[in-house]
Amino acid sequence: MNSKADNVVIIGGGPAGSALGCYLSKAGIKNTIYEAANHPRPHVGESMVMSSVAVFDEIGFLPILEREGFVKKYGASWHPPVAKGEAAISFDEFPSPHVKQDYTYHVDRQKFDLLMLKHAESMGTKVYQGVSASKVHFDENNYASGVRLNFADQEIDVPARMVVDATGRHTLLGKQLKIKKNDPIFDQFAVHAWYENVDKSQTDSSEYIHIYFLPVERGWG
Ligand SMILES: Cc1cc2nc3c(=O)[nH]c(=O)nc-3n(C[C@H](O)[C@H](O)[C@H](O)COP(=O)(O)OP(=O)(O)OC[C@H]3O[C@@H](n4cnc5c(N)ncnc54)[C@H](O)[C@@H]3O)c2cc1C
Repeated sequence: MNSKADNVVIIGGGPAGSALGCYLSKAGIKNTIYEAANHPRPHVGESMVMSSVAVFDEIGFLPILEREGFVKKYGASWHPPVAKGEAAISFDEFPSPHVKQDYTYHVDRQKFDLLMLKHAESMGTKVYQGVSASKVHFDENNYASGVRLNFADQEIDVPARMVVDATGRHTLLGKQLKIKKNDPIFDQFAVHAWYENVDKSQTDSSEYIHIYFLPVERGWG
């Protein structure tokens, strides 16, 4: 921790960075997000789990999700690749004391991430988009003390009381410290697409997210 600075620097304005910004602002702690992209930017990862609802509630984001009319997701169902049938769960079968509703959301991440970033800003987070961090600085005691930012062909060093790497799969710190390891089991790839006019008449769980296991080893879609 750099006690000369009073600001937490969050690198990355995805859902993790934005949620953290909200929590810090709620606690009265100054914080700034530096986001490399300019939102809205495309992203995969649309189908929210129920536990995320507890976070949305705590940071006051639920009314925005409701206002924007995101698809409500009441459960999940799995379909085997060859045999017929469906194994389904409904979230109301697993009530949590921290979640007051029986559904979560399926979101367009471009829109969702932008809304979350704006929400963090409205709660007090300073947000800079189009600014990427290239390095985290460490002091003589090995505490993170600031970041190097790249903006409009310039490099700027900004001090920070604390630095949070919220760069997602970009893993800025993991790469810088050379501690990133590939997981041999999750050595996978994904193809990502959206479909329109899907016929859901053959199922009685039209508000579920459907997961199909593809007829390949460890594959699903
Ligand atoms: C194929 C696939 C399917 C998935 N499906 C789901 C799903 O159905 N449901 C689900 O909940 N999750 C899903 N996920 C996971 C989900 O995408 C992530 O958990 C989620 O996006 C993580 O959010 P984050 O804020 O940590 O990172 P991100 O959303 O990736 O945000 C990181 C941000 O940091 C910014 N950034 C990166 N580097 C820098 C830098 N150097 N300086 C400044 N900014 C930087 C990026 O521009 C980005 O905006 C899926 C992931 C994959 C790969």
